[in-house]
Amino acid sequence: IEQSALQNDKLAMLGKIAAAIAHEIRNPLTSIRGFIQLLNPFLKEVGKEEYGRIILSEIDRANDIIFEFLNSSKPSDPMKQKVVVGMLLKETIMLSESEALMRGCELHCEVFDPDLTVAIDVKQVKQVLLNIVKNALDAISEVKEKRKGRIDICARREGKYALISIRDNGKGMERAILNRLFDPFFTTKEAGTGLGLSVSSRIICNHGGTIEVDSTVNEGTEFMIYLPFAEGKE
Ligand code: ADP
Repeated sequence: IEQSALQNDKLAMLGKIAAAIAHEIRNPLTSIRGFIQLLNPFLKEVGKEEYGRIILSEIDRANDIIFEFLNSSKPSDPMKQKVVVGMLLKETIMLSESEALMRGCELHCEVFDPDLTVAIDVKQVKQVLLNIVKNALDAISEVKEKRKGRIDICARREGKYALISIRDNGKGMERAILNRLFDPFFTTKEAGTGLGLSVSSRIICNHGGTIEVDSTVNEGTEFMIYLPFAEGKE
C-alpha cells in the first residue's frame, strides 16, 4: 500500500511539473504565432505563403496538445453539482448541432427517464460528451460508401448508474485500435492529439464511473458512459 501511495505522490508531482512546463511553452508559442502572422505579407511576396500556413497550423496543433494535456493533468477533484441527465444531453446536442449539420449527419436524442440525475462536474463531463460526439462525427466522415451519417444519444437508468450511450454508424474500429483507444497520444488522425479519450476516461473514472466501447468495423461504434446516479433533483 505504501509503495502505491509513493507512486501516486510521484505521479502527482510529475503532473504538476508537466503542467508548469506546458504553461511555459504556451507563451513563446503565442508570440511565434503572432510574428509569423506579421511575416505573412513578405511570404506572399516571395510566393511562400504555404510555409506560413504550415507553421501556423503546426503551432495550433502544438497548442491543442498542450491545452488538452493541461486539462487532463489538472488536480482532478471534480466540482460536483446535481444535474438532470436530459438537460446535459440537450446542451451537448445544441453544441454539436452545427458541426453535425455541416457534415450532413443526423443527431438523435432519447432520454428514457426524465428525472435521471447525476452529481457531476458539468464542465468536465460535457467535455467528455463533446469529445465522443466529435469522434463519432469524424468516424462518420471517414466512411467510404454512401450512407446517411447518424448519431444516437440516449440515457437510461442501469442499476446504480445512469447510462449515457453515444452510438454512431461510422467506420468502426478493429481490435488493434480498440486495444489502444484510451492510451494517451494514440491517434489515427492526421491532426489528432490522441488525448481526447484518455482525458475522458480519467474524468469519468474520477466521478466513480466507467466508459465501455463496442465497435464493429464498417458498421459503427457505441460508447457507454456509466455515472453513479444521484438520488432526487435539487
Ligand atoms: P483523437 O480524436 O485526437 O485521435 P481520441 O483519444 O479522442 O484522440 O481518439 C483516439 C482514436 O480512437 C482516434 O484517432 C480514432 O482512431 C479512434 N476512435 C475514437 N472514437 C471513434 C469512433 N467513434 N469511431 C471510430 N474510431 C474512433
